Amino acid sequence: MQQAEREGQAFTHDIAIVGGGLVGASLGCALSPLIERYGWRVAIIESAALPKNAQEVSWQPSFDGRASAIAEGSAQRFSQLGVWEEMRKEAAPIKRIHISERGRLGAARLSASELGVEALGHVIPNAWMGRVLHQKLQQLAIEWYCPAKVDQLTPKAKGHHLVLSNGSELTAPLTILADGGRSGLKEQLGISSRHYSYEQAALIAHVGVSQPHQGVAYERFTAQGPIALLPLPGQAMELVWTHGSGTEQARLALSDREFLHQLQAAFGDRVGRFTHVGQRLSYPLSLVTAEEPVRPGLAVLGNAAHALHPVAGQGFNLALRSVMDLVEALERGAQSQRALGDMETLLAFEQCRAQDRANVIRFSDGLVRLFGYSLPLLSHARAAGLVSLNLIGPLRRGLARRAMGLER
Ligand SMILES: Cc1cc2nc3c(=O)[nH]c(=O)nc-3n(C[C@H](O)[C@H](O)[C@H](O)COP(=O)(O)OP(=O)(O)OC[C@H]3O[C@@H](n4cnc5c(N)ncnc54)[C@H](O)[C@@H]3O)c2cc1C
Repeated sequence: MQQAEREGQAFTHDIAIVGGGLVGASLGCALSPLIERYGWRVAIIESAALPKNAQEVSWQPSFDGRASAIAEGSAQRFSQLGVWEEMRKEAAPIKRIHISERGRLGAARLSASELGVEALGHVIPNAWMGRVLHQKLQQLAIEWYCPAKVDQLTPKAKGHHLVLSNGSELTAPLTILADGGRSGLKEQLGISSRHYSYEQAALIAHVGVSQPHQGVAYERFTAQGPIALLPLPGQAMELVWTHGSGTEQARLALSDREFLHQLQAAFGDRVGRFTHVGQRLSYPLSLVTAEEPVRPGLAVLGNAAHALHPVAGQGFNLALRSVMDLVEALERGAQSQRALGDMETLLAFEQCRAQDRANVIRFSDGLVRLFGYSLPLLSHARAAGLVSLNLIGPLRRGLARRAMGLER
């Protein structure tokens, strides 16, 4: 990865990736074999400065204080990118998943051993994923514009023209929009999005627990919103506590002691006592989907294409499958002598993504809606669903394979 230092100049690339977050950085790594084979000039433009050393906190939204549940399928994909050996050094395996509803008897359990796999997934701090991906990018022939923001993105006869905040200008026959969807570039291009606000926010924090978690990930649906607890290395867990928007400031402002008390009351004592809580962060939750994921010379990936509710921990896992499929489509396009940015290649990519994306959105959104209602009948049906899910092996195994990213 070379830092393009000349400011205010014009450059030509084959592929311009806007955003070096989880998705843009993964795409850069995934393109490596094609860069070698076809000599493509690839650039990543990232607006947030990278940390200068391992101790410094990243200000990139992808690599903040969160940890993510990475499905087994994604671990396999990271392995293909040559980053898994490093990633796994800070990863905690998910050995079992326990889904329950507070005040109801029903519970569903999924375990790695019954599926004959070592882990159902892995929990990895986002900051660590960022460090590993960026270390890998350093070894590749990719040009890196950072910190530099893409201010303007304009379609040309063949590709797009990009104007950066440092005055540089770039052109590329293929541009990948991996900017997380909040920079206004989609709107600049006239790509509209469907937006549904859940009127909820997710509060994230590392919490200490008094009992060893034994690799169990918990999803507990409570009257105050779903609580997910994911295993971290040691006796710590990542808390994702969803609640109605408007209450986040109050929860962020609680003293640690009062916060732990409320969490204990809502979650119960399955992991013993909550002993301490780290920095608390809050994220507003919406379902956002871009109406046009591809256009001539352009593909939209990651959160820019689909931002999901994190209840099922699927957003990045879905995006990583798109990254791999895009690279495969580009490879086939190159073999068929099609130019980069050609619509036939991009449509083939979109066709193979549509079903998986629709399934994951339906699954995540359905879960939020199913557990979001407190009608008594629905509540019994949910409990019955959780009990029967436990009894019906194939259904449970199907769910587990989907959650593991091994099935689409
Ligand atoms: C609370 C929460 C928990 C989650 N947990 C999970 C989980 O457990 N498992 C999972 O699979 N997914 C999870 N997700 C989803 C996951 O975080 C996202 O899918 C992922 O962050 C998307 O990455 P991205 O690179 O598309 O976007 P982002 O993370 O938003 O990164 C975009 C990058 O683009 C840069 N950028 C923006 N605008 C510009 C511009 N104009 N020019 C240049 N650069 C720009 C930004 O600085 C940033 O680095 C969770 C999400 C939330 C909110």
